[in-house]
Amino acid sequence: MVFLTPADSKFVESVFRRYYRNNAETVLIPERIAEREFGYFTFEGETMIRHLYIESKEKLIEFLKKNTPLHVYHSAAFYTYPSAPMEEKGWLGAELVFDIDADHLNTLCKREHDFKVCSRCFTPYPKQLSRCDKCGNTLIDVEWVCNLCLEAAREEVEKLLDFLEGDLGFRKIRIAFSGNRGYHLAVVDEHVIGLGQQERKEIVDYVTGMGLSLRSMGLIEDPKRDKIAKGGGPDITDLGWRKRIARSIIYLVLKADEKELTELSGDPQLTKKYINLIKQYSEEWSERPAWDTLPRGLIKLLGKAATAHASAKIDVVVTSDIHRLIRLGNTLNGKSGLLAKTINLDELDEFNPFAQAVALPIDEEVEVYVLRSPKFNLGGREFGPYENLKVNMPLAAAILLIAKNAATISR
Ligand SMILES: [Zn+2]
Ligand SMILES: [Zn+2]
Repeated sequence: MVFLTPADSKFVESVFRRYYRNNAETVLIPERIAEREFGYFTFEGETMIRHLYIESKEKLIEFLKKNTPLHVYHSAAFYTYPSAPMEEKGWLGAELVFDIDADHLNTLCKREHDFKVCSRCFTPYPKQLSRCDKCGNTLIDVEWVCNLCLEAAREEVEKLLDFLEGDLGFRKIRIAFSGNRGYHLAVVDEHVIGLGQQERKEIVDYVTGMGLSLRSMGLIEDPKRDKIAKGGGPDITDLGWRKRIARSIIYLVLKADEKELTELSGDPQLTKKYINLIKQYSEEWSERPAWDTLPRGLIKLLGKAATAHASAKIDVVVTSDIHRLIRLGNTLNGKSGLLAKTINLDELDEFNPFAQAVALPIDEEVEVYVLRSPKFNLGGREFGPYENLKVNMPLAAAILLIAKNAATISR
């Protein structure tokens, strides 16, 4: 079960049902809908019901009103027979999709705001425990999401957009908040639709900097000599990865943060060896480093760290999977009750998920027992922190806490 108690599940389902009854018309109607596979989770079952064929906007709206999905998805792919078994579907092509999730980012807040709970005793526990002290029950994870998580995810989206638009020249990009801890992007330019798995994998490698050759940028020369080529290094006025490497190296040197360099390079020894030199450069450098004066080991360290710093942290499996199901835009995410809201590219900067993705009532209150909750903002109001406390709060906030297993209506 995805909720703490059956009553919680029933309660959230009733709120979702009412939402879809009144708002199903506002969901995103995917292009070429009749060629897509649909799938969804119910509030009861734990496996996805998939291989569904929904031929029109009207049928999709009817489907949402009738089924009240906990989560609902459609394929990024187009098929001749969307409801057939996978090998008989007749793959016609697929949008190029990207998933950026705060789960995969090394945000510091995660350590502070994630915790566990016992669904029997309604007791919160620290994240590192696995069993309840009182009853021995296996504890359930509460994966919280905060502004810092989402800000980190948004920065990755911006990096990714720079690759997709700036380097690769894609023009038709759809973007959506996931409704929980990240963002989804879909490139829908005609010429990407036919790309196979291998070609998508190459795009993944490009945006993640996989296999990037520092030597090709003039950064590591003949291994027998200790200096790099004169005048051959990357510059911030260059294009593509050369610009990124130059920019990130300068940023990292000026910041001279040992912890960050260790994390990005994955090489604590090399960082230790060069940190004092980096600190010295941090005082001296303006904008263009004299590459040919830097020791080889330092170049190696900075190159590695800069690649990690400039790459876009995408879920690599999602993008290379040509049969992937993605969340239907403008539907409720069952892990939060927030809307997986579609966003215009020019609105990304200003987008505030905890205001603009709030779809459930904020003017209607309900009493819940909160096991634990960090402080949070929703719909322009501030809540918490709470611990072992009955609280009256707007429906949207209550559903967020119940969906996160941080609160229950059963006590
Ligand atoms: Zn317990
Ligand atoms: Zn966070």
